[in-house]
Amino acid sequence: MPLIVILDDQATNRRIFEKLAASIEEDVTVRSFAGPREALDWLEGGAVPDLIVTDYKMPEMNGAEFIRAFREKAQFVEIPIIVITVYEERAFRMRALEAGATDFLQSPVDHQEFITRARNLLKLRKQQLLLESRAQTLAKELATSEHSREEVLRDSTERLAQVIDTVPAMVSASDRDGRILFANAFLGRFVGKDPTAVVGQSLDFLHDRGSATRNRGLDRKVFETGQPLPSFEEELVCVSGKRHVFLTTKSPLRNGHDVVVGVLTSSLDITERKQAEAHLLHLAHHDPLTDLPNRVLLSDRLRREVARARRGDRPFALHLVDLDDFKSINDLLGHSAGDRFLIEVAQRLRAVIDPEDTVARVGGDEFAVLQTGVTQEEDATDLARRIVETIGEPFVVAGRRLASGASVGIAFHPADGEDATELLKKADLAMYRAKSEGGNQLCIFVSDMETRNRHSLLLDGELRDAIANEQFVLHYQPQLELATGRVVGAEALLRWNHPEHGLLMPGEFLARAEENGLIVPINEWVLREACREAKSWHCRGLEGMRIAVNLSPIQFRRLNVPLLVCKVLADTGLDPRCLDLEITENIVMGDTATVIDHLKQIHALGVDISIDDFGTGFSSLNYVKKFPVDRLKIDQCFVRNMSEDPSDAAIVGAIINLGHSLELTVTAEGVETELQAEWLRAAGCDEVQGHLYGRAMPADRFVGFALAQSRPVSQAREGR
Ligand code: C2E
Ligand code: MG
Ligand code: MG
Repeated sequence: MPLIVILDDQATNRRIFEKLAASIEEDVTVRSFAGPREALDWLEGGAVPDLIVTDYKMPEMNGAEFIRAFREKAQFVEIPIIVITVYEERAFRMRALEAGATDFLQSPVDHQEFITRARNLLKLRKQQLLLESRAQTLAKELATSEHSREEVLRDSTERLAQVIDTVPAMVSASDRDGRILFANAFLGRFVGKDPTAVVGQSLDFLHDRGSATRNRGLDRKVFETGQPLPSFEEELVCVSGKRHVFLTTKSPLRNGHDVVVGVLTSSLDITERKQAEAHLLHLAHHDPLTDLPNRVLLSDRLRREVARARRGDRPFALHLVDLDDFKSINDLLGHSAGDRFLIEVAQRLRAVIDPEDTVARVGGDEFAVLQTGVTQEEDATDLARRIVETIGEPFVVAGRRLASGASVGIAFHPADGEDATELLKKADLAMYRAKSEGGNQLCIFVSDMETRNRHSLLLDGELRDAIANEQFVLHYQPQLELATGRVVGAEALLRWNHPEHGLLMPGEFLARAEENGLIVPINEWVLREACREAKSWHCRGLEGMRIAVNLSPIQFRRLNVPLLVCKVLADTGLDPRCLDLEITENIVMGDTATVIDHLKQIHALGVDISIDDFGTGFSSLNYVKKFPVDRLKIDQCFVRNMSEDPSDAAIVGAIINLGHSLELTVTAEGVETELQAEWLRAAGCDEVQGHLYGRAMPADRFVGFALAQSRPVSQAREGR
């Protein structure tokens, strides 16, 4: 509640000012006095006004004198005072200001001006009071915090000392001369000394000579750089002689002037953590049953060995050992006997290898041996032989005598592989070969490439000889008109009458003949032979019998096919309308313009063109339209699955429709069942070929078969 004090010797003035003052704020208190003495006396009672409004000219003392007297009290120094006067002179105002007046009001007083000025001064006073109280709280807070900071510091120093003594770490500090500044209880216990007794001693007093020298060196570094050292692991021996691993950190200790005065060393005991790590590492790298290194560790050692070999050119061998009869031992005697057997095998393998070599278990009954220091092939084969022998010796497991063979595959570095994966793969291949050749033996990896090359070279020579020696023969598979069952043609299919291997199918040699280009002379022979044969049929009562010949894409690339066809037709005298050339989509996907041109020339001769294996390649309507095609041969894979797979049935149906829309004949290949035949008949297929009607057969048999054509389709089956 603001208190306003009014001083005026005239009662009227006092009443006016009282009224005005009371209207400034709602809860303002107003006290008025007729003279300064009366007012000062009252103020002695302890009241603190918030605003004083005083007349200047008063009987006992003037305004300036009153202000001076009032301001003498410290608590009144900042109370605002308004002086009301009729004087306008400057000198007079100066005196009042000097005495401590805050503001002036000219008499007669303007009421509004009185209220405004008084209100402003009250506001100012209020802010003063607020500031004062804030300053007081702040001072109070400061005072308490000052007090608690000291307390906290004292507490924490004590607690820190406790903590330092209880942490499971060695904490110590040393000065520039390597003298110990302090050591905690843990360190004392570790070295078996009273931590207070070591203070002032040299570092040698704490550690053995080696670690004391090392510590001094490291401390020097911290003094020089003023920087902490990165943590490092160190091994220290405790008073009882046990070795512990510590993680040590060293950091500078500075005084108040930021000068490094010591080095703080803290060493955390990580012995248990290291042991756990080592255990986990062992588990990760070893087979729990035999405790042999596992595949991971083997790969690791292989990688290391490869790196070493690169540096010093040290060839090494990798053996993969597979037990031949483990499965039956396991099945016969149970898993625990099987386990004991494997442990025994592991022990025997360990016994035959050199200590610096590695034997690992890489699978259920699969082991690997990394053999270093191999200078010649015999070093490896000798070891492999010893492995086969040691495993071959009988075992006694669960009171029974057991025996198992071992198959060993050997791969060499660098000859067989650059890296671990490659070598493991090669050794594995060799091991499988050893196994497939009866087991209980070793086998050295022979580069697959070499074998294949050797095989190809052999095949190339034989293929060349086959033409000269007339080892090729043609078999003929009948093609029938589905609606009538009439044999309308035959497909010539190539066979190789190999002197050693017997009759070989195209799948066994055709790919190689296409690779080495021998398909060109071979297929030329096929064309000529087929045409010659067909011509002879025509003379034996099978007039108009069509002959289908498969062409190779290589022929189209290397040869003028129309010219060849022309020549062959002329040479054999076959009616071009009886020749049907089967081409695949591969042929037409090649050099399209030339191929189209060549096919057109052939077609112009009257020869039929069929697209073989239709549906398996790019089979687009587009190319069928572009080429002079007479027939589509639906690939046997669709026909085979037609009755089980509705989508295959749909494809067959679509091909038949497509063919018919282009006025082509549609032949279904590989028809094997009556059901398929029926389905094809219902779908409107024109011709059929397949085992249901007749397999590819020698020419003579075909003639006999075809001569019986007058019978209906269902009865015209070969030999059924
Ligand atoms: P292709 O031209 O599609 O010949 C059809 C193949 O399917 C023949 O195999 C034939 O014996 C077989 N086959 C026929 N009916 C059935 C059946 O009902 N079921 C089954 N599972 N198979 C049946 P082949 O004789 O082994 O010929 C394979 C491929 O060799 C031929 O497929 C052809 O692409 C190629 N070929 C054969 N002779 C020659 C030739 O003289 N020159 C060329 N360039 N390729 C030939
Ligand atoms: Mg064919
Ligand atoms: Mg085919």
